Amino acid sequence: MSETGANQNRRFPDWQALFEAARDARHRAYAPYSGYTVGAALVGSGGKIYSGCNVENVSYGLTLCAERVAMASAVAGGERRWERLLVLTADAAVPCGACLQVLAEFCRDLPIALANETGIVRLTALSQLLPQAFASEMAPGSQKEPHQTDQEFIG
Ligand SMILES: [Zn+2]
Repeated sequence: MSETGANQNRRFPDWQALFEAARDARHRAYAPYSGYTVGAALVGSGGKIYSGCNVENVSYGLTLCAERVAMASAVAGGERRWERLLVLTADAAVPCGACLQVLAEFCRDLPIALANETGIVRLTALSQLLPQAFASEMAPGSQKEPHQTDQEFIG
């Protein structure tokens, strides 16, 4: 038996398991205003699947995307590292920019499958869909305190 990498011995649910979880979640979507239902399934580093569906609101801006619902569920489950994401819509749509940015908070490069009801249409990655995410190290106070550095110069 040869080992070619750290992931060689770890087993994660395959794309089909994510497809089925996303399809189940999509059937539970709450989308009375748009009728556009979305299911998402995310695999955490522990191998557990977290799913989400879109949850619309009469105040449209309060609508939650399926991807962010799945992410929030994963974080609530104690997972902050993810292995792959599958998103299922009628037209195998790309996640919205807000969801891509929230994904980037936890994973810089995440394999993403875009699917419709018949199966996976496209395999891509977070780094392809959002190549220049606003990164946490750009946020004030996340590493060096720029103001403190300025203070040191000022004396
Ligand atoms: Zn979104």
